[in-house]
Amino acid sequence: MTTALALARSGFRVVVLEQAERLEETGAGIQLSPNATRVLGALGLRDELGQRGVAPAALRVMAAASGREILRMPLGEPAAKRYGAPYWLVHRGDLQAALAAAVARNLHITLKLGLHVDDFVAHANGVTVSAHGRAGVVDERGTALIAADGLWSAMRAQIGYGGVPRFAGRTAWRALVPAKDVAPQCRDPLIQLWLGRDAHLVHYPVKGGNLINIVAIMEDSWNAPGWSEPAARADLLPRFSPRHWAPQALSLVSAPEAWLKWALYDRRPLLSWSQGPVALVGDAAHPMLPYLAQGAAMAIEDAAVVAHHLARMPDDPTAALRAYSAERRARAWRVQRLAARNGARYHLTGLRAVARNALMRTLGGAWLLRHYDWLYDWRPPHAYSSS
Ligand SMILES: Cc1cc2nc3c(=O)[nH]c(=O)nc-3n(C[C@H](O)[C@H](O)[C@H](O)COP(=O)(O)OP(=O)(O)OC[C@H]3O[C@@H](n4cnc5c(N)ncnc54)[C@H](O)[C@@H]3O)c2cc1C
Repeated sequence: MTTALALARSGFRVVVLEQAERLEETGAGIQLSPNATRVLGALGLRDELGQRGVAPAALRVMAAASGREILRMPLGEPAAKRYGAPYWLVHRGDLQAALAAAVARNLHITLKLGLHVDDFVAHANGVTVSAHGRAGVVDERGTALIAADGLWSAMRAQIGYGGVPRFAGRTAWRALVPAKDVAPQCRDPLIQLWLGRDAHLVHYPVKGGNLINIVAIMEDSWNAPGWSEPAARADLLPRFSPRHWAPQALSLVSAPEAWLKWALYDRRPLLSWSQGPVALVGDAAHPMLPYLAQGAAMAIEDAAVVAHHLARMPDDPTAALRAYSAERRARAWRVQRLAARNGARYHLTGLRAVARNALMRTLGGAWLLRHYDWLYDWRPPHAYSSS
């Protein structure tokens, strides 16, 4: 939907084909860093998301066993000033609702639900996409096809980049709990990251601080595609031993009864994300592990860049999509690599964990924020830089 909004803003008429029959709320939060909120703001979503989201004052990193703070990276006002755009913690349902409302208001976008895209054919006049739904097979014709079909992208295989996602040997367990059910320190407007033995825990408030989003990531052999496998607290708790986790973390993971679990995957970086008038965006192009909270942010950046190049070369979508892919590739690779590296660092044990914590303490939160300037200070192409 972000890509559709960006394209409509550039003057294109857009048809979105989505296989889901309804847009339902996924019960999870999402961090939106300034590189993403800048684009969303320019697409007219600043007020709505600003009202629904929480602006965290800092990222607080803690050692799981001792419960001691390792560092605090300032976000909130300092980051908003530094990057000219806020950092938001949002419920995924709120982000989806804001995008869906903007799409519904936009006369240049038609959202068609319940249509599974099967195939496409590129021809001299553009591309014809065929999809099926309850009412049978539907063909849509356009000048270009932008495939935003996620990690398991079928369109990626169709443009010649087959292969299956690689299981990362970890599972993310997610839950949302009412803020009143957790300790007061867990309600603070902070992203709290606990680095533990073969596991880490992230939590932050969403829905104006009324709900707490919790994600526990641990080494695991269970894996299956999908976003929302129901999981039980009884299966999670034995993995959090009081020897390795401080009481505050233990009480937090004990709060939700119901969890959803989700196996983590990535894919090898691709050299190109386009073929003729077809291009991939988001996880379809560059799925990444979630240890930098950047997967959706990269998809949102893609939206602005792909729309920019198509607007520059409306009569030559092949060249426009090639230019988009060439512009985005190095940055997405860098983010994919750094996310994977963070994943290894987060789960260190023994002396290596002690050394990691000591180094982080020495460098400090202000250093860490500066270190991420290249990531958060990304500017979209000119047309999207302000609303
Ligand atoms: C535990 C975890 C935490 C995360 N936290 C963050 C975070 O804090 N910040 C962040 O930026 N990112 C985060 N991410 C990453 C983020 O969720 C993804 O990168 C993002 O959802 C990718 O968006 P997408 O639109 O490319 O794909 P998806 O969100 O997977 O959407 C793909 C869409 O395509 C539809 N579709 C698929 N195939 C077809 C078809 N053939 N026909 C029609 N429709 C189809 C699907 O139904 C779906 O709606 C996290 C990921 C995980 C696993």
